Amino acid sequence: MRPFSYSRAEDVGGAIATVTADRATDYLAGGTTKVDMLRIGTEWSQRLVDIADLPLTQIDDLPGGGLRLGAVARMSDVAMAAAVRERFPMISQALLLGASAQLRNMATMGGNLMQRVRCGYFRDTRSPCNKRDPGSGCAAIPGINRGHAVLGTSEHCVATHPSDLAVALVALDAVVHVQGRGGARAIPIDDFFLLPGDTPQLEHPLEHGELITAIEVPAAPVARRSTYLKVRDRESYEFALASAAVALRVEDGVVADVRIALGGVATKPWRARRAERMLLGAQADRESFERAAREELAAAVAQSMNGYKIELAQRTMVRALEETR
Ligand SMILES: Cc1cc2nc3c(=O)[nH]c(=O)nc-3n(C[C@H](O)[C@H](O)[C@H](O)COP(=O)(O)OP(=O)(O)OC[C@H]3O[C@@H](n4cnc5c(N)ncnc54)[C@H](O)[C@@H]3O)c2cc1C
Ligand code: SF4
Repeated sequence: MRPFSYSRAEDVGGAIATVTADRATDYLAGGTTKVDMLRIGTEWSQRLVDIADLPLTQIDDLPGGGLRLGAVARMSDVAMAAAVRERFPMISQALLLGASAQLRNMATMGGNLMQRVRCGYFRDTRSPCNKRDPGSGCAAIPGINRGHAVLGTSEHCVATHPSDLAVALVALDAVVHVQGRGGARAIPIDDFFLLPGDTPQLEHPLEHGELITAIEVPAAPVARRSTYLKVRDRESYEFALASAAVALRVEDGVVADVRIALGGVATKPWRARRAERMLLGAQADRESFERAAREELAAAVAQSMNGYKIELAQRTMVRALEETR
């Protein structure tokens, strides 16, 4: 591990000024991703600015029933907050199904959105990887790709997006608030995560030094009845092979409102808009759910070892819809 210097930020403006001024200076929040990256050498920082003391930990009510989640709020605190559990159960469930209790006590909301992919070749600095070393190639495409994506891939990268939380937030049209040298801006969460395309090294639209300050979850009465279903190789402490965040309102047997996003199968948290469009106004039964899931996965492209994910994603979506109905 290469040496770096460390300081604790006392105010938001000071933290942004320090990180923005130097490309080799980065934020440290809970440290549960960043320290790993430094240890294995996929990232290098000369200086870390610890943002854990910044006053960005609140969970505030928004008019109409939405919530504003501070970027430095811990995953465990947000998961257990009564307002989150009542109004947005899928957020609470996604958080509780991620990582381990110890990690959730350290990890923050902003850090969760900024975590890096779990592709083994990205983390092995001897392997070619377009995300870590643009233009070097993708070792996963001809290699071991059982856990990789079937949606949103490109010939340059097929890594799945790892965050569970982000899947629930994408289903809910959350907004990421950031602050940087040029002032504050609000980024719709679907635009916050970039498809790999020709530039897999770019994962989000942040400029160096832009700080996530909060995540706003707009009011969504449909989300009171919502589920995050995660399928993985073992029941705890594992990333998703496939997951589905679903919110559903059924009136007289017909789908009156629905939100669906998929995780573990795509290069970004995947809003299942095709499936949503097919379901609105349809009978809320297994046949409609299966048809919508097939439609959503119609554009999926499998690698040599992950063809099973196409069916798994469909089954996960259908089961989540049935459990939410
Ligand atoms: C063993 C293990 C299992 C895991 N399993 C899961 C899982 O199943 N599901 C899941 O979703 N996650 C999982 N995780 C990932 C975990 O959720 C993340 O490591 C964690 O959320 C990162 O948050 P942090 O506060 O520790 O971020 P840090 O490690 O401190 O930072 C991560 C990155 O985000 C940047 N950053 C942090 N905060 C901000 C901010 N406010 N603005 C701008 N940039 C910022 C940092 O500079 C750094 O680049 C797992 C992690 C481990 C180690
Ligand atoms: S899938 Fe993406 S992260 Fe993995 S080796 Fe290929 S380019 Fe790198």
